[in-house]
Amino acid sequence: MDNNLLWSNFLEVVKRKISTVSYDTWFKDTKILKQEEGKLLIEVPMSFHKKFLKDTYYDLIDEILNDLVGCSYDLEFVVEEDIIEEEKSEEKLDEDYFSINSNLNPKYTFENFVIGDSNRFAQTASVAVAEEPGKIYNPLFIHGKSGLGKTHLMHAIGNYVSENSKKKVLYVTSEEFISDFIGINKKNEDNLEVIEHFKYKYRNIDVLIIDDIQFLGGAEKTQQEFFHTFNTLYDSNKQIIISSDRSPDDLKLLEDRLRTRFRWGLTVDIYPPDFDLRCKILKDKMAGHEVASLVQNEVIEYIATNCENDVRHLEGAITRLYAYAAIMSPKEINVEFATEALKDYIGSSIYITNNIVRIQKAVADYYKITIDDLKSKKRTANINKPRQIAMYLSRMTTEETVVKIGLEFGNRDHSTVLYAYDKINKEIKENETLKKEINEIKNLIVN
Ligand code: ADP
Ligand code: MG
Repeated sequence: MDNNLLWSNFLEVVKRKISTVSYDTWFKDTKILKQEEGKLLIEVPMSFHKKFLKDTYYDLIDEILNDLVGCSYDLEFVVEEDIIEEEKSEEKLDEDYFSINSNLNPKYTFENFVIGDSNRFAQTASVAVAEEPGKIYNPLFIHGKSGLGKTHLMHAIGNYVSENSKKKVLYVTSEEFISDFIGINKKNEDNLEVIEHFKYKYRNIDVLIIDDIQFLGGAEKTQQEFFHTFNTLYDSNKQIIISSDRSPDDLKLLEDRLRTRFRWGLTVDIYPPDFDLRCKILKDKMAGHEVASLVQNEVIEYIATNCENDVRHLEGAITRLYAYAAIMSPKEINVEFATEALKDYIGSSIYITNNIVRIQKAVADYYKITIDDLKSKKRTANINKPRQIAMYLSRMTTEETVVKIGLEFGNRDHSTVLYAYDKINKEIKENETLKKEINEIKNLIVN
């Protein structure tokens, strides 16, 4: 199908699935830029569309496209400037097989990290490490719940080091580390070269940043490789920075000797921001936007009062508020306006829009079945139970009506949803295993 036709068909469908405001805000001015090797480049008007579409609507877009063309694309959202950037960087890419990309995101710096009581310790330690990598706190271990700024601080350290010295920095998530490692274990002709590349990538650097180490849990061989890499770097006084959503002691799946190593250095934790810090962060992030001057002070307090969990939540509120302002062109942004703009967001604190699809995805992943299974008419236990759980979660954690939920589960009647809800609600009180599974799924949805 021709790109324009595909996209106009897509827009038709999406328009019916979401509210008009959401459609106008997020989809109206988008188009397919090009299609290559299973990848679809979608051009969007502003930078904030990229993140929002990816975080919130990815699955929906994927699903609709799938219905239209019968296959999945890798979706990438770009703004005009990205395309120019990409053309430049493609030229650079082939230069050297061994040229390692640091993976640093220049967006995250110490300058735009707002400090308060809950993150001061972590920030101070990070600055100290950035100034003298490998000298004082090695490794630096940062832990705290999701959305509190760990990744931001780690990039800030990396950016600082890169700017102020010739030292080589490498930022990887533990997933990337694992997938690189799997690469070296594959038997293929180029394997020697791949192993060399792995060693080169991980051992010839001055600062190694590994994000979300909790995901390394369970992958034993990878842990061993990480252990070697860790020792090699540590013994040559190279800086190692690690983050996790829990403290080293709570990383139960990691080998003891790895946890012991982590304790050699400094462990810092980040707490959720208090009200003052939430206000400070909001002000900082709202500034500079063209409608910033319209925002009344009470709006900041209103958001800070209602979004308590983490910084990502605050950012989401700003994005929505500004997107709504872009459509409504208000004379001032007061609490009334903010309440209207954020009515679906605030209150449903953790869960953001398109909840049902997210829940379905989490449940399907968890039980190793597909979203299509959940929507299908299949009634085998291995599908029926997850389906009921997904309906239960949809009813319990979202604002959606049972009619809408039924619709999203293969156009089932709302009484089926009610039945599933009651059933799981009862079972959960008696069945510890089920309760635990549901809690684990909830964590998957939040992340
Ligand atoms: P984590 O890695 O702990 O899950 P992130 O570092 O990804 O969290 O932070 C989530 C978002 O919140 C990012 O966009 C980040 O820039 C922002 N953020 C977190 N803490 C702060 C802070 N103190 N000041 C400014 N932005 C912050
Ligand atoms: Mg992170």
